[in-house]
Amino acid sequence: MSNIYVHYPYCKQACHYCNFHFSTTNKGKDNILDLIEKELEIRSNEVKSPLESIYFGGGSPSLISNKSVDVFLKKIHRDYSISDKIEITMEVNPDDVTEDYLHGLKASGVNRLSLGIQSFFEKDLKLMNRAHNADQAHKALSLAGKYFDNFSLDLIYGMPYSSLLNWEKNLNLALEYNPFHISAYALTVEKKTALHHQIKKNKIEPIPEESVREHYDFLIDKMEIEGYINYEFSNFGKPGYFSVNNQNYWNGKAYLGLGPSAHSYDGIRQRSWNVSNNHLYAESVSSKKLKRESETLNTKDMYNEYIMTGLRKIEGLSLGHIKKVFGNTYSAYFEEQVGRHLEQRNIFWDGDYLKVSRQAKFLTDGIASDLFII
Ligand code: SF4
Repeated sequence: MSNIYVHYPYCKQACHYCNFHFSTTNKGKDNILDLIEKELEIRSNEVKSPLESIYFGGGSPSLISNKSVDVFLKKIHRDYSISDKIEITMEVNPDDVTEDYLHGLKASGVNRLSLGIQSFFEKDLKLMNRAHNADQAHKALSLAGKYFDNFSLDLIYGMPYSSLLNWEKNLNLALEYNPFHISAYALTVEKKTALHHQIKKNKIEPIPEESVREHYDFLIDKMEIEGYINYEFSNFGKPGYFSVNNQNYWNGKAYLGLGPSAHSYDGIRQRSWNVSNNHLYAESVSSKKLKRESETLNTKDMYNEYIMTGLRKIEGLSLGHIKKVFGNTYSAYFEEQVGRHLEQRNIFWDGDYLKVSRQAKFLTDGIASDLFII
């Protein structure tokens, strides 16, 4: 694998919209990184050199101490060959940011931060039950800029009770810190989350779909004016600052996912994932009998994945690629399905590539699902 993803499964508190795997107890927290190192040792034959990216996600990986990050990265440098241009990203929550912490990360070789800002408004942060406040968001960004050239921040639009004006203010505040990269996601209401429960009980009113679209359209225009490239539906980067980790993932490259619930892909057809339970994960690593499940993707699954990820990317979908990889039956089906959307100018051909037009960007996932083979 040329990419390593580390899932750190602990958080200070549960954000109301989140359905990732995490625990808010401290049980097992102290030795989770040791276990992740052991898992890496057990699966070392799956690592393909040279490593192009390491990504600490979660959960809240900024709860990992500087010392543990340092030990972990030193081991990787000692045991594996590393690309000169390796991208090492740490997701960081604003409430964990101190000058010492960022200094320590940098000294250990972390060269990219992804800050979970989400919003600069207290009202939004409280509604989401984020652990940080607006002041901490500003301080974290100031410090990130002091220690890292390459930092990204996450924002959420389509918040209940928000307005286009507030979204504009949020974006403007973020841009004041001159980040090279911004990821912006619509708030999605996932089942079994506190937000879902609150909406079902009519305690929170979601904003209409049309307003979410307005926020997204504003985002696209604003980021273009500011010189960012919308290289993937939710991701905007200055040239040379697109996320290596994310691009490799979207381009179907192999990645090794370590830690509870982490997913891996062999870059061919095999997907696997670790047990989503910290205790069972610890037991399985300690006994060297990893608890993992896997699936082998069939050609239809692979075609559908290519459609979904490809249409969201700036490059679009290559008809040549579909013919070569999936065969003539698939390419004929694809050409047939695109007709209606071509007529409606939702998509257009750019040489061999099919791309989503500016006016239909918000509809990308819906267009992709029309091209799926069910
Ligand atoms: S900090 Fe991140 S992983 Fe943890 S609950 Fe919030 S959104 Fe989920």
